[in-house]
Amino acid sequence: MQSQTREISEQITCFGEGKRYMITTLGCQMNEHDSEVMSAMLENLGYCPTDLPEEADLIIINTCAVRKKPEDKVASMLGKYHSLKDQKKELILAVGGCMTQQEEVALYIKNRFKQVDLVFGTHALPRLPYLIDQARKNKETIIDITEDYSGREELPSKPFSSFHAWVPIIYGCNNFCAYCLVPYVRGRERSRRPEDIISEVRSLAGRNYREITLLGQNVNSYGQDLEADLTFAKLLGDIGRVEGLTRIRFMTSHPKDLSPELIEAVRQEEKVCEHFHLPVQAGSNRILEKMNRRYTREQYLELVKEIKSAIPGVSITSDIIVGFPGETGEDFADTLDLIKNVRFDSAFAFIYSPRKGTRASRMEDNISYNEKEKRLQQLNKVQQRISKEENERLVGKIMEVMVEGPSKSDPGMQTGRLRTNKLVHFKGPSELTGKLALVEITEARTWNLFAELKEVVD
Ligand code: SF4
Repeated sequence: MQSQTREISEQITCFGEGKRYMITTLGCQMNEHDSEVMSAMLENLGYCPTDLPEEADLIIINTCAVRKKPEDKVASMLGKYHSLKDQKKELILAVGGCMTQQEEVALYIKNRFKQVDLVFGTHALPRLPYLIDQARKNKETIIDITEDYSGREELPSKPFSSFHAWVPIIYGCNNFCAYCLVPYVRGRERSRRPEDIISEVRSLAGRNYREITLLGQNVNSYGQDLEADLTFAKLLGDIGRVEGLTRIRFMTSHPKDLSPELIEAVRQEEKVCEHFHLPVQAGSNRILEKMNRRYTREQYLELVKEIKSAIPGVSITSDIIVGFPGETGEDFADTLDLIKNVRFDSAFAFIYSPRKGTRASRMEDNISYNEKEKRLQQLNKVQQRISKEENERLVGKIMEVMVEGPSKSDPGMQTGRLRTNKLVHFKGPSELTGKLALVEITEARTWNLFAELKEVVD
């Protein structure tokens, strides 16, 4: 089917000429990158981007299945777009991504939202031009949720930023954490060939992209499915030698696969930023086991110790699930104790959200939502205090930022990012976007820092 649809796609003419598209992206960085791939494909068809739904001839909602909240958001967006479809009959409304890779959800959307023309899953990305062509010619809703993974690696992308690009190195996940749908909706791990990654990175560097983030649900298992003897640490070393790049980031790291070799690579490679996003999810061994995380709190704490002693000034951020089925007050106290012990620079905590089809969704959950909310508030309070204290340690220091552009909340200020991924706001000219600058940190807040511009480096 894949080669057939690719042949058909190649025959498709530029039916997007003179038309506009809008993509709304929910969820993680991998989804953001998928939206960049969609953009490149749509622009090859002649479409131009717009931020205004009323102007769009094609609207794609790129969905997320990790929690329930983004799912509710999709339903509310589709409700809103209903009237647009009444005003503009030729508008194509498409829903894609992780949520719609699930057959039950895809059929629900088709039946519940009659205005939707196309429903496609994560694996259908290479067939998108063909599917849109079909959607504009057919009255019936088109559905593509086949599990054909092929063709994904060859797709071009159009980075939304002018200096930063996402580069996937591994797709899918083999870990089957009890609460997570990713292995079901993104399939098993598939590492990209190193030569393809390096050639993409070279091409990005040649087009003045100075910062890249290497992406994978678990970058640490990169290479395990390839014949060559290759690890993520070795790949980082090879990418570090690409000329023109200034900063290399990566995410996400599964703690069970984070090797001493990787810590050493981050320590040694000048371009690799000192930041690990290392989701711990829980601080209780009983809950970690129920979650199928395959490490203990002791192993996690030891890993953090090794990272911190090898890389001075490193930042460690995390994800934490509060109220996993069966989490007792004692389990929660263990999580609180762990975050106080690690002192994460920041942590994204959220209340457990059952996902149909996962093991955790079949576990008995006897904690009230009220109690879960209380625990979340308690945890956030502790973490926010720690984040602020960690930021305060930087006040008075001169640090390097990559300037991202005018601040979203105050366009008179510029926003930059430290190597440790912390956001810094400072006064400066808008033409600094994409440049490195030195700033002096003057004020620390919980979520960000304020600074004075000292020098533009390049
Ligand atoms: S490592 Fe666990 S949480 Fe992360 S994507 Fe894989 S299954 Fe989901």
